[in-house]
Amino acid sequence: MKSALITGITGQDGAYLAQLLLNKGYEVYGVIARRSTDTLWRLNYLGIKEQVNLIEGDMSDLSSLIRAVQISNASEVYNLAAQSFVGTSWEQPILTANVTGVGVVNLLEAIRLTDPTIRYYQASTSEMFGLVQEPIQSETTPFYPRSPYGVAKLYGHWITVNYRESFNMHTSSGILFNHESPLRGIEFVTRKVTDAAARIKLGVQDKLHLGNIDAKRDWGFAGDYVEAMWLMLQQDQGDDYVVATGKTTTVRDMCEIAFKHVGLNYIDHIVIDPQFYRPAEVDLLLGNPTKAMKQLNWEPKTNLEQLITMMVDADMKRVKGEVQILAEVQ
Ligand code: NDP
Ligand code: GDP
Repeated sequence: MKSALITGITGQDGAYLAQLLLNKGYEVYGVIARRSTDTLWRLNYLGIKEQVNLIEGDMSDLSSLIRAVQISNASEVYNLAAQSFVGTSWEQPILTANVTGVGVVNLLEAIRLTDPTIRYYQASTSEMFGLVQEPIQSETTPFYPRSPYGVAKLYGHWITVNYRESFNMHTSSGILFNHESPLRGIEFVTRKVTDAAARIKLGVQDKLHLGNIDAKRDWGFAGDYVEAMWLMLQQDQGDDYVVATGKTTTVRDMCEIAFKHVGLNYIDHIVIDPQFYRPAEVDLLLGNPTKAMKQLNWEPKTNLEQLITMMVDADMKRVKGEVQILAEVQ
């Protein structure tokens, strides 16, 4: 049986990827960082908590990563762990550099020292394009990150390329555009909006405070995107791929979809609040997924309307108390 190791298994993508790999018959191991509260709610929600093997570790602790690679005996390692929230990266830039940037080379070294034939996936991001240098971004578009998060991810991206070129390792970098789901962290704008639409509809919240609602993002469904990660590691060679839908939408129009789904007009409920503006903004992201579609035979299956209504429906159920997702959000 094939084994895979996932860092960030308790995050949105980690949970969906673990589910995908279990369905494909893998033995799944995950690195779990020590926290004072339970972080297993996503694995619980998908009903797979008992099926994965958890190994304590942290991206900033090389010895723990070596141990995780060895214990798991993995032939594929997926590095999804990160301080992943752009807003927080201005508040904790050094932690972001250490975990999201240097953490990548820690894991690559753990693999190289243990078994350099292990295949490696790096969770790169469209945030590396930042102040976009081309109206539609592909694998050849120059990078221009706009946040400490984007800068840290750019290091992770290039060190992944460098280990491929230096040591002939099978390393791949997925340049994923924003992807969301009912398991998305509540601080990200889609989930903040779908949660608020549900709570306002059910009378437990009044207003929704947002920042720059003119920003445009290319949003897809996390469940579709983890399939692309797996496909990259099934290729003969490691490579870099943009994973996106090829459509971009404003935060404003995304709000309209969410509120309309529960019979509300978003204009009546949104308050523009400068506290959510960013020191430097990424105004527009729009990806060209042609390479992934051609070489990986991958395609996004869920459009924005389906994604946002799925998230609102899940949040309605949670706010009504019919299902437990993210217990700490009240
Ligand atoms: P999440 O924020 O949901 O998950 C991040 C994961 O990293 C969590 O499991 C978290 O653990 C773990 N983690 C954080 N710090 C450490 C650490 N020091 N040591 C070990 N583990 C740690 O992110 P997503 O699932 O949304 O994203 C997955 C990856 O893809 C991330 O690297 C993200 O930056 C990247 N990405 C995401 C995109 C998106 O739109 N979702 C777009 C492009 C890239 P804990 O639960 O304990 O906090
Ligand atoms: P990001 O693309 O990784 O930064 O994902 P986010 O979901 O955090 O933000 C997407 C866009 O929404 C950014 O351009 C934000 O500036 C914008 N935005 C507007 N209001 C908010 C808000 O209240 N919270 C967040 N997270 N983003 C907001």
